[in-house]
Amino acid sequence: MPDYKEKSGFKRHILIVEDDMINREILGNILNRDYTCHFAENGRQALDSLQQREFICSLILLDLMMPVMDGFQFMDEIKADDRLSSIPVIVMTSETDAEVKSIRTGAADFITKPYDMPEVILARCERIIELQEDKSIIHAAEKDQLTGLYTKDFFAEYIRQIEQYSPDEKKDILVLNIDHFHLINELYGRRQGDDVLVCIADLLTKLFDDSQDIGCRTEADYFYIYCHSGTDYETVLHSLLDGLAAAIPSTHVRLRMGIYPEVDKALVAENWIDRAKTACDRIRGDYSRHISYYNNEFYERSKYHEKLINDMDDAIASKDLIVYYQPKYAIQGEEPTLRSAEALIRWKHPELGMISPGDFIPLFESNGLIQKLDRYVWAEAARQVGEWKRTYGVSVPVSVNVSRMDIYYPKLRDDFKALLQANGLETNELMLEITESAYADNADQLVNVVENLRKDGFMIEMDDFGSGYSSLNMLTTIPIDALKMDMKFIRNMQKDEKSMKLVELILDIASFLQVPVIAEGVETEEQVQLLKERGCDIIQGYYFSRPVPPAEFIPFIEKEVARRAAQ
Ligand code: C2E
Ligand code: CA
Ligand code: CA
Repeated sequence: MPDYKEKSGFKRHILIVEDDMINREILGNILNRDYTCHFAENGRQALDSLQQREFICSLILLDLMMPVMDGFQFMDEIKADDRLSSIPVIVMTSETDAEVKSIRTGAADFITKPYDMPEVILARCERIIELQEDKSIIHAAEKDQLTGLYTKDFFAEYIRQIEQYSPDEKKDILVLNIDHFHLINELYGRRQGDDVLVCIADLLTKLFDDSQDIGCRTEADYFYIYCHSGTDYETVLHSLLDGLAAAIPSTHVRLRMGIYPEVDKALVAENWIDRAKTACDRIRGDYSRHISYYNNEFYERSKYHEKLINDMDDAIASKDLIVYYQPKYAIQGEEPTLRSAEALIRWKHPELGMISPGDFIPLFESNGLIQKLDRYVWAEAARQVGEWKRTYGVSVPVSVNVSRMDIYYPKLRDDFKALLQANGLETNELMLEITESAYADNADQLVNVVENLRKDGFMIEMDDFGSGYSSLNMLTTIPIDALKMDMKFIRNMQKDEKSMKLVELILDIASFLQVPVIAEGVETEEQVQLLKERGCDIIQGYYFSRPVPPAEFIPFIEKEVARRAAQ
């Protein structure tokens, strides 16, 4: 077994309480090499220094006969003090009935005077400290030191034990979390934060007082309760909030609850705990709800998301993520001509099948993975444009989607320039689509980035125009090269007068700004005609083609090559 002193690599502190100076000297000399020694001449002095917490005391060597406060009284005092009662004491005595006396005081061991061999004293000190530390490790692992509730591992273990006795009883798991707990710590200090935690633990202990109800605290501010089904959680929540407000009125605490009701006994306790937490985390930041119940559908969805997140890197490496291309046609001439294409990502997942970007783009936007994915798409698209250019001698510019998060990526311009260079492209062959809503986020920074990109020669299309955010005012300050009209206008154009008017208005605005309009989501001949009559320049939609894999895009290029040759 490894030496625990070597293991932890620091000198522990021993307090020697002895009125005889010579004895203090002798003990000090024996212990000095391995320990930091502190001295007190009587019980009173020793108690003062312990209570002032000048050092973390691992062991007390105690003489019994001393003036002012003797060893017995000192022992009574420290046993009554919660913070000191766990420090082990070795009693030093010269009397014959030493053993009985020491045990009576509650000492862990005893040493007889005159002192034994130094090795014996050292060995006893070492053994007692080790025993005590092992004991507190066990204790620490079972119970949370601050609140006295179980730790998560033991919580699950005790649930299993209770389940053995009452496997058929309906049970719930409740989880409670404090909103912005770190703010409480920052604003009011950690001690206040601790007070809040202890207060919640005490309230929970009172509220769930059945012998089969158990609780745990973990990850600072998560509390779990395993209890009988049918508890009225609204009432529990209000009792907690009232109790907190009464006990700690200076701190405003907001609580969130997740409940996994009538746990599925086919699953293990850890799963129950996860499900309650999933429900609780779902309403994080949703100020209209305080209590959330777990349901299967939600859980499946979060598992699905987790899988997508885990699988993204592999999907890029194995090219399960494929860039599709959808053509954009210029329609104002006699016949439509291929103008460019939009790169749209598709995921051919080996287990889940074809996944549409609507499922994973918002997910990756919410956790930052979108930057990696987009860079992959840009590189693929640039490579593809270069390849088509070399093979067919025509340039089909491709626009790529740029997420709002990409805009804050400092090397955005450098990356795009590097892609052009690597693939032998001109700046007008790789275009950027930036969604309208990104413009509202941080207009100044966006304008700055877009201006610089345009200075480099890149073309910027404002995507989803009309979907919500931009004001006319913003439009005049934002430099763009094309407006992509949001699909919903096209969809409703023939249904209601208002949408048609809006289409006309957007076309007017664009003509005022002298930029072309790209109509997205155009599916019918009729829509094409209506748009053409009103001066719309470019059309993208199922009418011409769905987004297709690169090989299926080739006929569009060949047709364009043939058309040009015939001119
Ligand atoms: P978006 O950029 O507005 O792309 C247009 C969407 O409309 C595409 O959906 C396209 O397939 C669909 N669409 C095109 N024509 C028609 C039509 O005639 N009728 C109908 N009903 N739909 C049509 P998709 O490919 O599912 O992409 C959805 C969204 O996902 C995109 O909207 C874009 O915001 C995002 N997205 C796709 N690929 C990427 C990417 O590589 N990076 C980023 N950041 N976002 C992407
Ligand atoms: Ca787009
Ligand atoms: Ca769009």
